Amino acid sequence: MNTETIAIVGAGQAGGWAAQTLRNEGFKGRIVLIGDEPHRPYERPPLSKAVLAGDAHADSTSLVKPEAFDLLDIDWRPKVTATRIDRSARLLHLTQGEPVHYDKLILCNGGRARRLDVPGADLPGVHMLRSIEDAAALGAALSAGKHLLIVGGGWIGLEVAATARKKGMQVTVVEALPRLCERTVPPLISDYLLRLHRSHGVEVVLGTGVQQFARTPAGGLSATLGDGREIACDAVLVGIGLVANDELAREAGLACEGGVLVDAQCRSSDADILAAGDVAAWHCEWAGRRMRLESWQNAQEQGIAAARAALGNEVNHQPLPWFWSDQYDVNLQIFGMPAPSHRVVVRGDPDTHSFVAFFLDEDKVVAALGPNSAKDLRFARRLIERRTSVDPERLADVQVPLAKL
Ligand SMILES: Cc1cc2nc3c(=O)[nH]c(=O)nc-3n(C[C@H](O)[C@H](O)[C@H](O)COP(=O)(O)OP(=O)(O)OC[C@H]3O[C@@H](n4cnc5c(N)ncnc54)[C@H](O)[C@@H]3O)c2cc1C
Repeated sequence: MNTETIAIVGAGQAGGWAAQTLRNEGFKGRIVLIGDEPHRPYERPPLSKAVLAGDAHADSTSLVKPEAFDLLDIDWRPKVTATRIDRSARLLHLTQGEPVHYDKLILCNGGRARRLDVPGADLPGVHMLRSIEDAAALGAALSAGKHLLIVGGGWIGLEVAATARKKGMQVTVVEALPRLCERTVPPLISDYLLRLHRSHGVEVVLGTGVQQFARTPAGGLSATLGDGREIACDAVLVGIGLVANDELAREAGLACEGGVLVDAQCRSSDADILAAGDVAAWHCEWAGRRMRLESWQNAQEQGIAAARAALGNEVNHQPLPWFWSDQYDVNLQIFGMPAPSHRVVVRGDPDTHSFVAFFLDEDKVVAALGPNSAKDLRFARRLIERRTSVDPERLADVQVPLAKL
């Protein structure tokens, strides 16, 4: 059967890459790109960094310049939500307009910021951060001398903490788990992040959550913590993770488990429906388990892979996971997936702002991360990808160039 129409749900980073890849690969048919936001595809990382700080305009996040986007000849439907997939008729139902008939459908509908289920979480002044509009609203609340309370000591919470400090705000981070970024990094890096933020004047409260928010008579906000403490503040950011938007797929009967289950060809349990980006869960060989990868790199590469697979090309989406975060003058990068079972070898002094933690499975480096060490991490990446056997002592010795390993 000829593929005449490819529909994409979600005009975000993965959807944008999928759409332009279809054209780059020579697809001449109809591409329908359904996006519930008013914007053309854009990248979100600057929303907690330069855009939030007011150092960059929201337009700078565009994936493709408007003129170049128009040349792709895409039937783009902004502010339209896909509401139902009728798999037997291959129809995508929308909040506006006729249902779209598809030959292939690519789900790139990402995820949404997880809501904090406590009284007062919907009060004005309590923010979440996912979209350009969220960044504009939070940015307007960042004002020198005011107090920002951040619920969640994960990547977004910590990046916003750094941005708010830069704007001269008083900042408190409340994290329910015993350490920062506990789900993604080992204790060594959590400790480093704690020192980093405390040294910049952020108050970090660990091991307790927020039980409720209330308005104060003076018009501010107050948060009651699990340990009974009351914190008065002017604004709140809730950054407690992401929920995959997999309802559309689930209601259509596709296999889902906290995300749309796909294989390395990005195919769901229906071979004509593919998924990519934050919404997709697949078996990541580097991690040795099924997972969703909420990262810029994965959104781009899986979006490209899904488009190529939809055209019938052979793909094998198994990129070495890569994630970065910018906080203050620190650029932290992670390659691979560190796990508690790995042996940790540190190169450099973890009390400084430049060192690398390597994660070894027997004598092979399987992951590496560190602040301000882009050059060493490029070598680390090669060691991981080539599955090189290393001598841990030489790895830890800063006198031994990594290139020699
Ligand atoms: C503030 C912030 C900072 C980040 N910083 C970093 C970073 O420093 N490094 C890094 O590696 N990653 C970072 N990320 C993660 C990265 O941006 C995401 O992994 C990436 O955006 C995922 O792309 P996606 O296309 O899967 O989802 P999205 O970009 O979220 O796109 C999904 C789109 O689908 C739309 N949609 C949902 N449901 C429907 C529907 N039914 N119909 C129509 N449209 C729908 C959504 O509104 C959205 O526009 C950050 C994310 C955020 C929010």
